[in-house]
Amino acid sequence: MALMVQAIRGMNDLLPEDTSVWQQVEKVLRQTMSSYGYSEVRMPIVEKTNLFCRAIGEVTDVVEKEMYSFEDRSGDHLSLRPEGTAGCVRAVLEHNLAYNQEQRLWYMGPMFRHERPQKGRYRQFHQMGVEVFGLNGPDIDAELIALTYSIWKKFGIENELELQLNSLGSAQERAAYREDLVKFLEAHFDDLDEDSKRRTHTNPLRVLDTKDEKVIEILKDAPKLSNYFGEETKNHFDRLQKFLDKLGIKYVLNDRLVRGLDYYNLTVFEWVTTALGAQGTVCGGGRYDALVEQLGGSPTKAVGFGLGMERLILLLTTLGKIAPKPNVDVYVVGAGDEVELHMLEVSNFLRTELPQARIMTHCGGGNFKKQFKKADKVQAKVAVIIGEAEIANKSVTIKDMNNQDAQQQEVAIADAPKAILEILNK
Ligand code: ATP
Ligand code: MG
Repeated sequence: MALMVQAIRGMNDLLPEDTSVWQQVEKVLRQTMSSYGYSEVRMPIVEKTNLFCRAIGEVTDVVEKEMYSFEDRSGDHLSLRPEGTAGCVRAVLEHNLAYNQEQRLWYMGPMFRHERPQKGRYRQFHQMGVEVFGLNGPDIDAELIALTYSIWKKFGIENELELQLNSLGSAQERAAYREDLVKFLEAHFDDLDEDSKRRTHTNPLRVLDTKDEKVIEILKDAPKLSNYFGEETKNHFDRLQKFLDKLGIKYVLNDRLVRGLDYYNLTVFEWVTTALGAQGTVCGGGRYDALVEQLGGSPTKAVGFGLGMERLILLLTTLGKIAPKPNVDVYVVGAGDEVELHMLEVSNFLRTELPQARIMTHCGGGNFKKQFKKADKVQAKVAVIIGEAEIANKSVTIKDMNNQDAQQQEVAIADAPKAILEILNK
């Protein structure tokens, strides 16, 4: 039967097997942020379109082609957020969070971009984002990279991701470079692909991260941004590399790394894998010292990154580093009208006594054989059996589901939590 209405292309349902994996990943991310002393913020998913145009840049792919924008019933121009930094900066300004103080913030949630869906590229995807305000770097730049590296290590994928590093210099340095780069691109204009031609006059630095092989070849002779760097930029970049060396984090300098959004300066970085095809960037970020002022705040240094959760999870599952886990530790079975009345009550008692344990009560009747099949299916480690005899004795019978040789033991209800815990802790 054809479904009348299906999900929107590129917007995925996460089913129980998926959420089991997602929850494991989210737990590691939350735990990491907490161990670095960062605070969580939660922003709305919808913001005024204006905010993204001003923050991300009018001539970026995201704003030109990828935003889900609409007019709401009051005629306001709104967009689903394509990324988190703009909304986070807006919130920080609105609530004066960065006034005379630093902030180290993180968030996690869905982002929306109207792109062509493919493996690792979706229209609704999720990011964990980190934004730090009020710190100059490069120590904090290094901390953010170290933080992401510690996440890879926790999953055992630190050797699967390559850190690419670049400096975009200051706005003045980029402006000088831009002039010479445009001259160079104009001189080779006829050999450029359509995208690069268009970008030559709208956003020439973006030409540098073209995927067109011919253009990449041409760019080998292009002027280098690093030749336009003054002392300050050089020192920042050198010192960042010293921090990374000290931490034993390997990196590759990539002077074609410019990132897709307009607001970056100085440090930019990406963590890239070859295991996911063209969608190889799992995490990217950098410094954006001008953005706060650009959005109406007083000048405030800032640095951050966005981590693509789908790509991280795809990488983890591709490499066999993560798998769904069972949801149930204890399955409570029983047969008969009178027994059923007791089952929910006994289960509640067990949940109160064992708040960490995941306890499912059999519902829907049926014989014991059928009920044990269910217990097996949910991969319960313990079955708690209630029959007429148990009710008369104010007891339950406990069965170790992973040890067929173990004796079932009947214990007083009051002693059941301890007996269950012994099996769960084995
Ligand atoms: P790409 O070059 O792959 O389009 P991007 O530069 O547009 O990435 P950012 O805006 O830097 O990506 O977002 C940070 C991270 O979010 C990316 O490195 C990636 O892991 C993830 N991401 C971005 N767009 C998507 C998408 N459409 N679907 C899934 N993940 C995405
Ligand atoms: Mg993109």
